[in-house]
Amino acid sequence: MNSVANAVASSRSTARLELDGLSRSFGAYNALDGIDLTIEPGEFVALLGPSGCGKSTALNCIAGLLALSGGEIRLGGNRIDQLEPEKRGFGMVFQSYALFPHMSVRKNVGFGLSMQGIKGAEADKRINDALALVRLESQAEKLPGQLSGGQQQRVAIARAIVIRPPVVLMDEPLSNLDAKLRLEMRAEIRGIHDQIGSTTIYVTHDQDEALSLADRIVVMSQGHIEQIGSPEDLYQRPVNVDVADFMGFRTRVPGRVVAVSGGEAEIDVAGARIAGTMRMPLKVGDAAILSVRPEDLVASDQGIAATVSSMEYRGRAFFGLARANDGSDLYFRADEALPRGAATRLSPVAGRALLFRDTTR
Ligand code: ATP
Repeated sequence: MNSVANAVASSRSTARLELDGLSRSFGAYNALDGIDLTIEPGEFVALLGPSGCGKSTALNCIAGLLALSGGEIRLGGNRIDQLEPEKRGFGMVFQSYALFPHMSVRKNVGFGLSMQGIKGAEADKRINDALALVRLESQAEKLPGQLSGGQQQRVAIARAIVIRPPVVLMDEPLSNLDAKLRLEMRAEIRGIHDQIGSTTIYVTHDQDEALSLADRIVVMSQGHIEQIGSPEDLYQRPVNVDVADFMGFRTRVPGRVVAVSGGEAEIDVAGARIAGTMRMPLKVGDAAILSVRPEDLVASDQGIAATVSSMEYRGRAFFGLARANDGSDLYFRADEALPRGAATRLSPVAGRALLFRDTTR
């Protein structure tokens, strides 16, 4: 750790954060339905899920901006869910930056310190260290409106970490940035996290962002946790068809199991026999769903018969959408463009298809 990072680093990020039965309802609607999650000191955890699944609600409950309807939050074994947000002392970074437009960068970063009564030389030193960490020393006297989006978000990050928070909470911090800047800022956020060693909870609906940033990913859906795991775990071993869908297995075709052998099964899908890895126990005759990523579904003589609907060029390959005879949408990869309406047959690359029980039939 360098000296700047050392100076910014929290003295309190040795505490474990525990969410125990975290619940929050709005009227009759349960936006959070009993979340259990333990986050180790210094861990980078991403809350991932579709819009409306409760990610921001969870983050706001942890921050103290929303009261709980049930459950407990503990930091280092002490209950904190009754504390005001300022008493929790967590750093927050929002999608909207939420900077004060009439205050200089330096004043924005120092605001939280003055709220804590830290002034004078100590405040100056901390502000300088935080600005150095996000590489904004030369912009300290500017107003937020004179900075680019990426720079404004770096100010917001400096403001969050200058108070040496035990936990940093980030709610879709990169959503307002263009694609190139998002990639750069991703690396920067992870770099800052690694340097200061603070526990970070990061809300996103972008699976790439979660995969590249987090030590552990928590996939949420409709107010509950679907799966917790390392990026590799989630990418390769989603526990159910919804998590698979969210992790990029876009094609999902219903079928029926016709053979089972070890961890593999064959299913009859839309008139073809396709092999896949069972992600849950299946037996012959069961209704099943085949899940495949677009890059793993390619032309093959034995594949599912389908008609090409559209294709687009994405640099190294073409990606297309085809309609199977049973009406299923198949997202596939090809080396060359096929005309709309062309007949094709598509099969998963060996070892890349997953099979789940179909609970709807
Ligand atoms: P997004 O990615 O779109 O921000 P999210 O996963 O963060 O989504 P939340 O903002 O946590 O979702 O919302 C979860 C659910 O709770 C949604 O159905 C939302 O409509 C509802 N909700 C959130 N805040 C309120 C509120 N103040 N009053 C009523 N319902 C709310």
